[in-house]
Amino acid sequence: MPAKPAKTSSRVTPSRSAPGLSIVVPLFNEAKGLARLHERIAEVARFLKVKRGLNLEVVYVDDGSRDDTSRIAHSLPALPLDIQVVTLSRNFGKEAALLAGLDHARLGAVLFMDGDGQHPPSLIELLVSRWLDDGYDVVYTAKANRENEPWLRRAGVKTFYALLNWRARHKIPEDAGDFRLLSPRAAAALRLMPERNRFFKGLSSWIGFRQVRVDYEPAMREHGATTWNIWSLIGLSIEGLTSFSVAPLRVASMLGLLLALTALFFGSWILLETVLFGKDVPGYPSLVVSVMVIGGAQLIMIGVLGEYVGKMLSEIKARPVYFVAEHSMKKANETAKTPAKPRSVTARAAE
Ligand code: UDP
Ligand code: MG
Repeated sequence: MPAKPAKTSSRVTPSRSAPGLSIVVPLFNEAKGLARLHERIAEVARFLKVKRGLNLEVVYVDDGSRDDTSRIAHSLPALPLDIQVVTLSRNFGKEAALLAGLDHARLGAVLFMDGDGQHPPSLIELLVSRWLDDGYDVVYTAKANRENEPWLRRAGVKTFYALLNWRARHKIPEDAGDFRLLSPRAAAALRLMPERNRFFKGLSSWIGFRQVRVDYEPAMREHGATTWNIWSLIGLSIEGLTSFSVAPLRVASMLGLLLALTALFFGSWILLETVLFGKDVPGYPSLVVSVMVIGGAQLIMIGVLGEYVGKMLSEIKARPVYFVAEHSMKKANETAKTPAKPRSVTARAAE
């Protein structure tokens, strides 16, 4: 029997239900500010409901928090919008939490925002307006300025995007954050992306459609501390680079070529000098230096290859990206009810 041809394209057909917006908020140890954040989201929701007739819900994804986040999320009042609380079985990381939120969002358009108050809910109205009034599919926000960041971080970000976008057909916008709104068809497209190693900013840019940038000034973190340190940022950068670009492999090939050519010229030069002028070759230092340069370059490039092999391994294993330990839903017009009992473990089905 002939093999089934691989799926090479997808037609995005979002559901035809009434226009609605799911707000997805990943939470990791955000107990302190959650009630206040919910108040602010509810305020915006009330306004959007009246002015736009939008159906709204918020999906709180508790990414294995060790504080009271889950209990507080369950106790929030479902007014004027529905509340879903998805508790993951452990801490899977922000990218997985975002995917869990996307999988549970029911209302067509999806808006992602952080749960630490740094993404101002007051901006939601503007994002919605760019979607509904101007017809954009992906409304992404970007930091208006990075002047207050350390220069090393800024230089890192610049290098990362330069590498990521090097000779790429589709450029991923620099500085874009995870605070973004996706129209129903863009959200549907994002759901069709089967990969397990997810780099949300890249994926939601890669899908195309009409995209627009909105500049904003992120607020200070009101409580707690950022979970990102230099190592996790480097990790995310390697993740983003290797899932979106083969630039590091190209750099490897070009560096190899460069080294080989240099060696050829250097070798010919030495040969000429010896044959024509009878000069002795000053061997030892140049030998050590060249061995070290070539050895170092080779080790780095083996590491680069290893990153891609590791990525292939994790895609082939096709493990679920997260497990849901508990899921509850509170409808806007229902009075508060006890949180749902833990359901049997559910996972994002492998494609
Ligand atoms: N977050 C998460 N899982 C994690 C780490 C972070 O869901 O393992 C959430 C966190 O609660 C917050 C958002 O991701 O809502 C951004 O995290 P953070 O503020 O630490 O990052 P930064 O704003 O410094 O980039
Ligand atoms: Mg933050």
